[in-house]
Amino acid sequence: MPSRPFFFLFLALFVGQQSFSIGLSEIASRCGGTLTYEQDGRVGIVRSKDCSLVFRHNSACHRLNGVSVYGQCPTGGGPGALTVDGADWARVLAPLLTPPAVAPLRRVCIDAGHGGHDSGTVQGQLVEKNLTLDIALRLQRLLRERNIGSILTRSGDSFVALERRPEIGSSCDLFISIHCNAADAPMASGVETYVLPQKGMASTARMDKPGAQDQHSCPNNRCDEHNLWLGYCLQRQLIGITGVKDRGVRRGRFLVLKAAHCPAALVECGFLTNGEEGRRLGTEEYREAIARALCQGICHYDAVGRR
Ligand SMILES: [Zn+2]
Repeated sequence: MPSRPFFFLFLALFVGQQSFSIGLSEIASRCGGTLTYEQDGRVGIVRSKDCSLVFRHNSACHRLNGVSVYGQCPTGGGPGALTVDGADWARVLAPLLTPPAVAPLRRVCIDAGHGGHDSGTVQGQLVEKNLTLDIALRLQRLLRERNIGSILTRSGDSFVALERRPEIGSSCDLFISIHCNAADAPMASGVETYVLPQKGMASTARMDKPGAQDQHSCPNNRCDEHNLWLGYCLQRQLIGITGVKDRGVRRGRFLVLKAAHCPAALVECGFLTNGEEGRRLGTEEYREAIARALCQGICHYDAVGRR
């Protein structure tokens, strides 16, 4: 039977999600850490021996151990007294501080985005479907070197329907979809990793209150905690190895994520529409670095979850 304070905490979380928030000092005490403020109180930092959490005034993009993770709501309170949405804490941040147990990793489904008549983004000589396949094949080789099996949703330049891709990976323990990004603004750059929104949460791109379309759950919502942990592990290695801008762990209702049979994430490995990033994505060395980051992210997901 939960104690009274915990009972009311859970009641507030599940009955009044919109209004419940938690102060940074409370988060610091739960983490066994300390709270400091910088930049005139607009940045709150919680540090413990196990983690660091950085919160910005009026921002839903929080940083956990150097990785940006998007919550649903911007921080509340005022400078020097920031608060975090209670659901964001309970459903996004707290689970990442205590990663879930992971079943033995036998096989990974690697999904090279696009293919065949679907080229994805085309920017000069750079064609997304070719780059994603190259990264997928490199990742398969790296996993094989670590005795981790894998299945590709496509191994050549063929069209595979989105609905078919999760089916191909139905016997796998993880599903990783690989894409390259594009934007109208040529300055847009960096890597981002998507996981399926939890029931009642909106996609990060909208950043508004969840609508009716966010209230039903998908088959893959049974993997919520593992999805988040996988997304975090991949994003952490991607920014660590490539050194590019961290655009964060985000939520998106992509069809391949909704229908995945196992923990799943979709990585956007950089912007083909950004001159410098496109040039790097065009080199074998950079695509090898991305594949290495994905491999290490998968291995970290597995190793920590099995402790
Ligand atoms: Zn794509």
